Amino acid sequence: MPSKSTLYKQILRYYDDVRTATAAKLRQKREELYSRLPRIEEIDNQISMAGISMAKAVLNSPTEAIDIALSLKENLKKLTDEKEQLLKKNGFPPDYLEIEYKCPICKDTGFVEDTRCACFSQKLVDLAYNSSNIKAIVKTENFDSFDLGYYSSEKENGEEISPRENIQRILSSCLRFTKNFGKEFDNLLLYGSPGLGKTFLCNCIARELLDKGITVMYVTASQLFKAMEKERFTRSEEEEPSEYLEDVLGVDLLIIDDLGTEFTTVFTAGELFNIINTRILNKKPVIISTNLALKDLSEKYSDRLTSRIMGGFTTLKFFGEDIRILKKFRK
Ligand SMILES: [Zn+2]
Repeated sequence: MPSKSTLYKQILRYYDDVRTATAAKLRQKREELYSRLPRIEEIDNQISMAGISMAKAVLNSPTEAIDIALSLKENLKKLTDEKEQLLKKNGFPPDYLEIEYKCPICKDTGFVEDTRCACFSQKLVDLAYNSSNIKAIVKTENFDSFDLGYYSSEKENGEEISPRENIQRILSSCLRFTKNFGKEFDNLLLYGSPGLGKTFLCNCIARELLDKGITVMYVTASQLFKAMEKERFTRSEEEEPSEYLEDVLGVDLLIIDDLGTEFTTVFTAGELFNIINTRILNKKPVIISTNLALKDLSEKYSDRLTSRIMGGFTTLKFFGEDIRILKKFRK
């Protein structure tokens, strides 16, 4: 993984490129517009000269400063109105010559005053973990494309509700989690048999939150545990935690997918507890998806992990027939 300062440079260069490209595009649009509607160019020139003419006029007759300012204001309004009318008449939107920012919050600088804009933080996460991967998946997997029709409306195996009622409840919990993100602290555990849409729903949540500018880090349990093991052998005790760990702990939402399929050691089980515990203490949400039942979590990891999860997570149990198989048959 590249170091953080390399990533920083890369991101700052990205913002530079974006601003350069935007400015070039705007220049080109302006030139085209001026050659089509020369009056617009005259108006723009008059508007940009107005300040200078006012300064001169005030210097020449300082006693009339207020009148001069008022007439200038009126004049400017006339010019802007005329320009707007002209644009409209020729089928252009009134903001045609305004800059279109990719991120209007930071105006593509990456910073709002001295703090990093959310788009900067997300770029960092994207680049470092290639989790822009999520963005490709979530193009097709989002709440609108979630199909309840795959879940049976018949009760089975002594469950109190049908798989469809169950998935409806789960879906509304996921929507609530997404809607209240940042306002109400919660964590989700999605557990149960495979093929019932757990990863799909994680992706839906990720997408909604990414769209709101919230930083999301998506890791499979085996990726996470491999990184932990690697860190264990390369880092000495006194060193600061690595950038990877900083991000695992600091990102707005951490999604750990497919917990339970990885190779676990006492060390990684302990680390998993530390990560989850630290995040909960700092009110940073976690979503875990696993095929394991709650009692298996205790066996594979620890009782303290299970009790932390029971106490701090909304647990959503998935059951029913594997919809991946159903989808294959229906297609
Ligand atoms: Zn921004």
